[in-house]
Amino acid sequence: MRRYREFHRESIDRPEDFWRREAARIHWQTPFTEVLDRSNPPFARWFAGGRTNLCFNAVDRHLDTRAQQNALVYVSTETGIERRYTYADLHAEVNRMAAVMRSLGVQRGDRVLIYLPMIPEAVFAVLACARLGAIHSVVFGGFAAPSLAARIDDAKPTLLVSADAGARGGKVIDYTPLVDEAMARAEHAPPRVLLIDRQLAPERLNAPYLIDYEPLREQHYNAHVPCEWLESNEPSYVLYTSGTTGKPKGVQRDVGGYAVALAASMEYIFEGRAGDTMFTASDIGWVVGHSYIIYAPLLAGMTTVMYEGTPVRPDGGIWWRLVEQHRINLMFTAPTAIRVLKKQDPALLRSADLSSLRTLFLAGEPLDEPTAVWISDALGKPVVDNYWQTETGWPMLAIQRGVEALPQKVGSPGVPCYGYDLVLRNEHTGEPCAQGEKGVITLSYPLPPGCMQTVWGDDARFVKTYWESVPGQQVYSTFDWGVQDENGYVTILGRTDDVINVAGHRLGTREIEEAISSHAAVAEVAVVGVNDTVKGQAALAFVVLRDAGAAADPAAADKLAAALAATVDRQLGAIGRPARVHFVSMLPKTRSGKLLRRAIAALAEGRDPGDLPTIEDAAALQQIREAVEPTGKA
Ligand code: ATP
Ligand code: MG
Repeated sequence: MRRYREFHRESIDRPEDFWRREAARIHWQTPFTEVLDRSNPPFARWFAGGRTNLCFNAVDRHLDTRAQQNALVYVSTETGIERRYTYADLHAEVNRMAAVMRSLGVQRGDRVLIYLPMIPEAVFAVLACARLGAIHSVVFGGFAAPSLAARIDDAKPTLLVSADAGARGGKVIDYTPLVDEAMARAEHAPPRVLLIDRQLAPERLNAPYLIDYEPLREQHYNAHVPCEWLESNEPSYVLYTSGTTGKPKGVQRDVGGYAVALAASMEYIFEGRAGDTMFTASDIGWVVGHSYIIYAPLLAGMTTVMYEGTPVRPDGGIWWRLVEQHRINLMFTAPTAIRVLKKQDPALLRSADLSSLRTLFLAGEPLDEPTAVWISDALGKPVVDNYWQTETGWPMLAIQRGVEALPQKVGSPGVPCYGYDLVLRNEHTGEPCAQGEKGVITLSYPLPPGCMQTVWGDDARFVKTYWESVPGQQVYSTFDWGVQDENGYVTILGRTDDVINVAGHRLGTREIEEAISSHAAVAEVAVVGVNDTVKGQAALAFVVLRDAGAAADPAAADKLAAALAATVDRQLGAIGRPARVHFVSMLPKTRSGKLLRRAIAALAEGRDPGDLPTIEDAAALQQIREAVEPTGKA
């Protein structure tokens, strides 16, 4: 692995040289005076003094060469609407949106909160903010009013952009009542809400602060709004983390560093080229959506496919038909989606022409071995797991095929990406771990371009939370466990708060989950620790089967539970064997598909799981309650 090794080495030893070169990928209106300002650690200022604009780089810059190429292809299986926007169309729409925002008082540095479903206007709004130098904060459209209100109060926006309704799985979700409630709850409610009326909600609200977008768009149809040239370190956006482990943090990102990092990642990690088509099946409310639905493909002159709908409606073949119809080259989604598809008829996948597809990228949660094997066999294409966080903005660990196509190691997202000085450290001493020793995944100063600058409005929280949690070292903590092998491959062993202690043995719940999910009957599993008077903690497993009928009667369920316990015994040893296995039909997850282990553990101990604004389907909680109840009484 010569090329990768040297490449990575240079990025760590001589970051200024490395990133100066990469910075040439974007347009600088004014050149930067310093590649990296390290005067105030742990803060890092990339490309200090340089002036640029994300919207210019994502849209305007391509007009000379690819005005007639599709920039955005929109498909909604919820409404049946399909639209295509060339770079010229996108430019026009972004200018209209920017002019409308400007007419509503939005200025450089102001926050604009975007609470929208997956519609093209969401992309226009994000890029319009970038154009004006306003700071966007996209709030996932599935959040309820209290979450929206909390984010309004944190971001204090000048404007909120919303829609009459979203749609999911064939059900229309009215947004205006949610917006109304959030506006009433929030202390810093903006004076106006710009409303995209999709005419989906049968009876939309008409509060005085609501203004319809369409007539304003008409008024500004031929508008041209110049790009604000921002200093590289001015904020581009604030995005709140998914809140799996607690109160969401407002991750603030810069302009220039982010643009450079994404453009570079497109070549080195995703192997995306101008003219390619990329389909990132995520939501614009998450970091994957920000980076790989909107910014990176457009910065690279590609076509991005935006999809509103689920992977199983009208049937489990829909994504593969999209690949065929739109000649998609790169696809990116979360392992959850693949686990959902694994339960569908495999013929649906095989019947589509997937010849255009080069690679499938998966991120956001652990990719278990059976799912990885299933999808790569089914597709016959490389499947690239990649590990990162809202905080980093782009992958920290991956096989960087555009640098060197190192072999995959099942169960590991790969090796550290260039730019990241990733070190596993002992949680007690802060010292680097030996090979094969489990430790906290940390990053040394400085973080590469594109990573979070600070917590919005709270530098102290940024320093304290991220940079002061490893003993004796000022390093960035990811709050994830990992282990690194002799070739540099890192395996993620779960979050630092997902460790259980059984009779004095510390076990990562992830390791037990891996063992259970290797059984062919299992579609998904969550393992949590509950208090146990004898052992300190005991592991409970909640299992979703590929075929729900397999545990329909108690005898079959017992037999299967025993088989799963035996699988764990074989792979981990009896110490990891779950005290009980419960079969459920779904698991509580966040809207972004992450397991809510803390909530499951609370329920399993008969405690209140607390407020779960990010939960996908609250019915899953009831299933956990019912599953543990009989044993709770016994
Ligand atoms: P919060 O920080 O508010 O609790 P969150 O950590 O779930 O929320 P995200 O930033 O969306 O918010 O998720 C990042 C986390 O997801 C990582 O820290 C890691 O735990 C997990 N993760 C992401 N990608 C992978 C991957 N490829 N393999 C294993 N885990 C992953
Ligand atoms: Mg996190």
